[in-house]
Amino acid sequence: MSRALPGLTLDELEHELGSRTRALEALKWLWSQRPLAAALPEAIPEVSHRVWKPFAARTGLTLPTVAQRLESPDGTTKYALDFSGTQVETVRIPAKGRSTICISSQAGCTRKCVFCATKELGFIRQLKAEEMVAQFMVARAEAPVEAPASNVVFMGMGEPFDNLDEVLRAVNVLTQSPAPQLRAVSVTVSTSGVLPGLQRFLAESKASLALSLNATTDEVRTQVMPQNKTWPIASLLGELRADAVRTKGKRQTFVEYVLFGGLNDTDDDADRLVQLLAGIPSRVNLIPYNPYPGTGLRTPSEEQVRRFHQRVVDQGVLCLVRWPRGREIAAACGQLVRSTSGEGFSPSEVDGAL
Ligand code: SAH
Repeated sequence: MSRALPGLTLDELEHELGSRTRALEALKWLWSQRPLAAALPEAIPEVSHRVWKPFAARTGLTLPTVAQRLESPDGTTKYALDFSGTQVETVRIPAKGRSTICISSQAGCTRKCVFCATKELGFIRQLKAEEMVAQFMVARAEAPVEAPASNVVFMGMGEPFDNLDEVLRAVNVLTQSPAPQLRAVSVTVSTSGVLPGLQRFLAESKASLALSLNATTDEVRTQVMPQNKTWPIASLLGELRADAVRTKGKRQTFVEYVLFGGLNDTDDDADRLVQLLAGIPSRVNLIPYNPYPGTGLRTPSEEQVRRFHQRVVDQGVLCLVRWPRGREIAAACGQLVRSTSGEGFSPSEVDGAL
């Protein structure tokens, strides 16, 4: 069986269907389905039955079933999606005139960030590109008409740079013509800072990048993100600096900084953050820690968050606070975990390029 249709690129489809025109028609069909088809039909318009039928038989649609859908009062909607027994989470975050879909790149996660609930799941398996694209399809199909799904962030479960081939393929599919044709700048891949993956992504992709920095010293970062021992702060920021020179500052780059009370939220941290980001055109997203039990970490007071923010802004760095959305339904950053007992969700946020 070849790859499922949502994971195929236009060139691959052309090869499968024997012509560019048929490939374009197949993509138009795929992206105009509302509600989504459950399986590939025997025929689609404008593609000869003779070619389509054997293709449909050897490929598939592999859309997930919606195991659970939770909507918070602000319209943020969290989906538990089931791909033949593997559950992942996807979140739709509406904003003025558009929605952002936050998708998972792994079931569970290969990383062990102390503050993130997803680590409780351990690593279950890599997701295929079609499963990432399918998450987008499901959430997009239910987006409000006045807020169409125009943005994607890889900020759900998983570390995208530990599954980079599939993530790059998904980015290609999401940005290709004739559909869904998202702008590369509107697709953001977020990493905990896996250096080899970061280097390859920066060399190969035009998509936006978010780096989860979360600390200003290696000592503190290693405490909350153990992988920092292998890829310390200077190694990661060195790549962003080189990328800024190479792309002449054209890549949209976000620096995610989760604020932990008393640990990384001091005035010195704010000053160090500004120094660390010299030469890196970026926007900082401050995310007040969404508490997750047993970590010993604290959420700073709102006043402390505002003070940190102001101190960074005063030194000329673009910086926004991402006040949590969807906390009521545990759809916020670091809260994406599906309890193994199937009882629902426990406390993650989807942030950055919202
Ligand atoms: N593995 C990738 C993408 C998933 S996490 C990465 O680390 O970037 C998406 C964002 O949520 C990251 O910036 C992460 O630092 C943040 N996050 C994780 N747990 C959190 C929590 N408990 N509270 C607030 N933000 C959290």
